[in-house]
Amino acid sequence: MLENIAIILVNTTHPGNIGGVARAMKNMGLGDLRLVEPKLFPHEDAVARSSGATNLLDNAQLFSSLEDALADCQLVVGTSARERHIPWPLINPRELAAIAAPLPQSQRLAVVFGREDRGLTNEELQLCHHHVNIPTNEQFSSLNVAAAVQVITYELRMAALGQSQQTEKPQWGTRWDIELASHQELELMFEHLEQVLIETEFLDPDNPRQLMPRLRRLLMRSVPDKVEVNVLRGILKSVQRKTATSGNVVVPESGRDEEIDGHR
Ligand code: SAH
Repeated sequence: MLENIAIILVNTTHPGNIGGVARAMKNMGLGDLRLVEPKLFPHEDAVARSSGATNLLDNAQLFSSLEDALADCQLVVGTSARERHIPWPLINPRELAAIAAPLPQSQRLAVVFGREDRGLTNEELQLCHHHVNIPTNEQFSSLNVAAAVQVITYELRMAALGQSQQTEKPQWGTRWDIELASHQELELMFEHLEQVLIETEFLDPDNPRQLMPRLRRLLMRSVPDKVEVNVLRGILKSVQRKTATSGNVVVPESGRDEEIDGHR
């Protein structure tokens, strides 16, 4: 299970923190470190703080966007030190570990960590299924990013150790019949949904308000699998076919028909 967990750092300012994260990860048996636009990397401070976990730094993958870093992950959680404008399903690290431990081998979990000064943006947090908060002192809630990685990976390790001693655990994910949708499949679905809602004039692109974040939260809360996403895309297609035949809306060339199962 620990091999299937990616730790993603977004826009890290201090390279020393990247080294601290590599060390924390290696201590807990994790190896997949992904960096989204770090300010300074590679850097000697990262090597120094890694205390010998340099193989994680050498193997760290660099990405120019969080979306790219998440593309092959099925379950995405974002970490946050505080409540945000639109609250998302919020869990603590132990609850995260209980969700992650029974995930099948084929599923990859991403845990996303934010910038030292201002954490993750609302848009970045809205890419996630769940938000994880380490229940710190409310008057002094923000941990150093490497310390936050340490706490969360410790819980993941404890759950992995416990899991290996137990047999079947009747938890979500254990006997799920279908693979979860990947991050990329979910993003294509949200793009498609937004497009259809604009076509039907339910969504005004000049005044979108919080409609897409709210729909995103509703659908992400259910952690959809591949077939469910295909069914939703098929429904959206059927709406587009109808609105196209009613005469006034042109179906844009999405070029994704082949990805959508027909359910007719
Ligand atoms: N001022 C920022 C804190 C950034 S701390 C904010 O309010 O969001 C840098 C990163 O460490 C955060 O983005 C998050 O990934 C992690 N982190 C720090 N404290 C945390 C906590 N109590 N719970 C979960 N993650 C935390």
